[in-house]
Amino acid sequence: MAENSAIEWTDHTWTPIAGCDPISPACANCYAALMAARLEKMGQAKYTGLATRTGNRGKWTGEVNLWEPDLLKPLEVKKPARWFLTSMGDVFHRKVPFEFLDRLFAVMALADRHTFYVLTKRADVAAEYLGPSPELEGMTRDVLVEGGAQAIHHQRTGEDPSMWLAVHWPLPNVVIGCTAEDQKRADERRPHMAAIAAAGWRTFVSYEPALGPVDWSGWEFLSGLISGGESGQGARPSHPSWHRAARDWCEEAHVPFMFKQWGAWRPNAMGERCVFLDGRDAPNLEPGGKNGHGSVRVQRYHGKTAGRELDGRVHDGIPGGRHG
Ligand code: SF4
Repeated sequence: MAENSAIEWTDHTWTPIAGCDPISPACANCYAALMAARLEKMGQAKYTGLATRTGNRGKWTGEVNLWEPDLLKPLEVKKPARWFLTSMGDVFHRKVPFEFLDRLFAVMALADRHTFYVLTKRADVAAEYLGPSPELEGMTRDVLVEGGAQAIHHQRTGEDPSMWLAVHWPLPNVVIGCTAEDQKRADERRPHMAAIAAAGWRTFVSYEPALGPVDWSGWEFLSGLISGGESGQGARPSHPSWHRAARDWCEEAHVPFMFKQWGAWRPNAMGERCVFLDGRDAPNLEPGGKNGHGSVRVQRYHGKTAGRELDGRVHDGIPGGRHG
């Protein structure tokens, strides 16, 4: 069975790759590391050696497991669905060989009834993988992915599909996304994502957890933008104006916008001062601070969620549009 996704906008998560290490400020409270340590303790072999746990925090060891038993999972699900990969690592981690990615993309090509959302913080590696390959004298890797797809089809059905099964980049049912949590990360990753989009792939950006304001000019190539605040232990608050700016830019640029969640903090409707309600300062939200967005009072929610309305509205734009 596929794992049902806890991510609102997808139906299933697919985790044939597990394990990671931090690469970005957004990784500071990586929940997947804690989950991996817990799952190992529960006896799940896929997570062996990936993370350690101290109290309520997990720490990646830097090891990555490529989990063959999960590789063909989407082919077993007949009903068209949206799949997210991967929630327990990064598909484009440098320790994942491109040959493994060839098989992963072969499965996505074969399972063309589904839509796949591939989210990474390593947009440079994604662009390298999806772009022309020096090893292949400038050709793209779809020539290898095609061979992989034919081999998988043959293994599953006994048929020889070499006369009819072709794979060409870009895969129409795959949407490539990167996280951009602040201006620096947005600036670093945009050229790589622009190159991927220019090659015809649908792309999206995850501005979650939003950790600073971002000027989205230059991202008009996107097929979707998802914005949200951080949740869990140690969550950092996001300023409402950061989400509003993303929403307004999306409207102007005709890019589908989703406001996924406030996370652990949300603005208090009564508040004008920049303090947390538990009395601590909120340095990154102070009036006149470097974000220049003025003050706001934010409130810590101890329940599961602080909701997902932005200015009284739910924003549910699905990146890349709905399947089919
Ligand atoms: S890239 Fe994702 S999985 Fe890896 S450390 Fe960062 S948040 Fe965690």
